[in-house]
Amino acid sequence: DAKPSTSMPRQRVTAKGNNVPAPLESFQDLITRYNVPPRLLDNLEHSGYLEPTGIQVHGVPILLEGRDLAAISPTGTGKTLAYLLPIFASLGAPASSSNDDTSRGVRALVLAPTRELAHQIHNECLKLAQGRKWRIVLFSKATASTLADKNVRDKVDIIISTPLRMVAALQAGNLDLSNVRHLILDEADRMLDPEFLEQVQEVTGACCHSSVRKAVFSATLPANAEKIAMGMLDDPIRVVVGLKDT
Ligand code: ADP
Ligand code: MG
Repeated sequence: DAKPSTSMPRQRVTAKGNNVPAPLESFQDLITRYNVPPRLLDNLEHSGYLEPTGIQVHGVPILLEGRDLAAISPTGTGKTLAYLLPIFASLGAPASSSNDDTSRGVRALVLAPTRELAHQIHNECLKLAQGRKWRIVLFSKATASTLADKNVRDKVDIIISTPLRMVAALQAGNLDLSNVRHLILDEADRMLDPEFLEQVQEVTGACCHSSVRKAVFSATLPANAEKIAMGMLDDPIRVVVGLKDT
């Protein structure tokens, strides 16, 4: 039999929705199909990411084509890269170097249930953004106060945060999410649970740009969370990854 293309466990993937984009054959496809800057591929390679995992193969084209996505894939299957890659591929010039209103201020927001997870996601961002001048903020009390200054705020490209921190900054009038184009809920089963739901809704409501693209990622999505997710997403594609028995 052919050798496995990745060190990841063998995966079975289903993708359902309208006009599902073709999966990636390899990370090289990003250059040929989507004109992704080669530098991003270099950063993948330097991070040891040689072949895309199942959720990356299917999820990345969906997000790059501007579609909403509900992604359900087991723990350890590379969900973080599946949503960060399309963000970095389409982010454009850093806000700090732009005079153009469309590339000003926070354009991508990733929400995670715990500070520790937000921290891990931020680290993953730093690997992928090597050599680029994007400002990627791990949101905390301290950063929240620096962002109270509009001049600082306008130069931020990406925020990674827990929902509660965002709500506090929004209520203080210290945050503008009206230019967010990529909104991600990681560990969506927890984010859409009653513990976080109201906060999450407040934040998603503030991401009011007409072309905000939303995605939820989770290892599991109980029926109730799934129903809420489907209500938030616009014409979504639902991708489910299961591990094959060995
Ligand atoms: P999940 O969020 O699905 O639990 P993570 O995004 O945390 O999974 O990724 C799990 C591990 O797999 C991480 O150590 C990550 O660096 C690694 N990984 C992700 N994508 C790839 C890939 N394409 N090739 C090799 N390793 C990968
Ligand atoms: Mg994860």
